[in-house]
Amino acid sequence: MTADRQPQIVRTQVGIVGGGPAGLVLAHLLHGQGIDCAVIEARDPEAIRNTHRAGILESATVRMLADSGVDGRVLSEGHEHRGTTLRFDGENHHIDFQDAVGHSVWLYPQNEVFWDLARACERDGVRIFWSVSDTGVHDVETQDPRITFTDAGGAPREIQASIVVGADGSRSMCRKLIPDDVRQDHFIEYPFAWFGILCEAPPSWPELIYANSPAGFALISQRSETVQRMYFQCDPETDPEDWDDRAIWARLQECLSGPDGFRLEEGRIFDKTVLRFRSYVCEPLRHHSLVLVGDAGHTVPPTGAKGLNLAFCDVRVLAPALVALFRDGDGSRLAGYSEQALQRVWKAQNFSYWVTKMMHARDGESAFEQKRRRGELAAITGSPYGRAYFAESYTGWQDQKYVRYAN
Ligand SMILES: Cc1cc2nc3c(=O)[nH]c(=O)nc-3n(C[C@H](O)[C@H](O)[C@H](O)COP(=O)(O)OP(=O)(O)OC[C@H]3O[C@@H](n4cnc5c(N)ncnc54)[C@H](O)[C@@H]3O)c2cc1C
Repeated sequence: MTADRQPQIVRTQVGIVGGGPAGLVLAHLLHGQGIDCAVIEARDPEAIRNTHRAGILESATVRMLADSGVDGRVLSEGHEHRGTTLRFDGENHHIDFQDAVGHSVWLYPQNEVFWDLARACERDGVRIFWSVSDTGVHDVETQDPRITFTDAGGAPREIQASIVVGADGSRSMCRKLIPDDVRQDHFIEYPFAWFGILCEAPPSWPELIYANSPAGFALISQRSETVQRMYFQCDPETDPEDWDDRAIWARLQECLSGPDGFRLEEGRIFDKTVLRFRSYVCEPLRHHSLVLVGDAGHTVPPTGAKGLNLAFCDVRVLAPALVALFRDGDGSRLAGYSEQALQRVWKAQNFSYWVTKMMHARDGESAFEQKRRRGELAAITGSPYGRAYFAESYTGWQDQKYVRYAN
């Protein structure tokens, strides 16, 4: 390496790989508590802002955004959903979250969460290197881990930190630094996927509708007064380009049809995607100086709307642990991070798996299995205990100690 290609060194307490929601909310909270950190992100902010993903936020996620001074837009522009609708036999069955457990969820798109976080980090002076390449993470089994990368201008850089956080999403490179004889990969794949669309249309219903029908599963969600998000069950090998708008609307209407005459509002489809279903957990979530948060450590099928919320849950455990380490020299909370975060992860895995199995038909499914699933849906929606179980899981268990991070 020639002298002018020597990396510029950045020294910090916490180096974060990945500037998605998990990495940015952690950086925001740490910075607010006086802990120095630096984030690297492979993509540019506009690209992330234009990637449509999650939409449902648990109330604790909303509180974290609002209380920690990220932005109040989640409250002013997000929509509170006090319940949801499960549809089967062509009829709607309402689950009132407030009535069942006293909590709501908020519809606020992930790209807006990202944008609020990115602007808060920029406002507060958090160091973020966007559009980096050649990321390498080194020496995580020592107390002096390093992150090397090429910055957006093509210059080599190195972050020297005490802790490296892998917030680098479901294809995490950081996770693979946990040796094979330490890391356990728990993984299952499902035999179906979701065909997702974004369309220009008014909302068809004020809440989400989870529809189980002989034509398969469909989810009717919203984005705004003029843009809607909808999904229907498909084969994982489906090519979105094989489906034109007419075929898509016909399938969605079929999944929602029933004696009540319900019809979806249709409009121009401007985004089509196929989303495969996987459940994955990495154990442990910490190895010496390396810690994993968010999708880097676990992924869930989107049915339970848990992925983004779990990323925030991890950070709710990790941020105070890192503050205790750097401010008080107390490493005990960081030592317990993996075990504590995984308790929530496995509950969310169970819920996501259960809802996925309950709502989706399998190819070649027997009449017994179809009727059993229908019985399960009736048991959940027809009993206050069933509704409460669903509502508590969906809105997010309130058992995680909430630390108020006011700046
Ligand atoms: C269609 C869809 C719908 C969903 N719906 C919901 C929902 O309703 N509710 C919910 O809670 N969750 C939902 N999810 C899941 C949610 O989107 C994810 O769980 C969430 O994005 C996880 O955030 P993260 O920050 O951990 O990972 P990501 O958002 O994936 O961010 C990781 C970041 O790391 C960067 N990166 C990766 N590798 C490197 C590298 N080597 N160097 C530098 N940077 C790197 C990536 O560019 C990326 O920006 C949905 C997901 C999808 C796909």
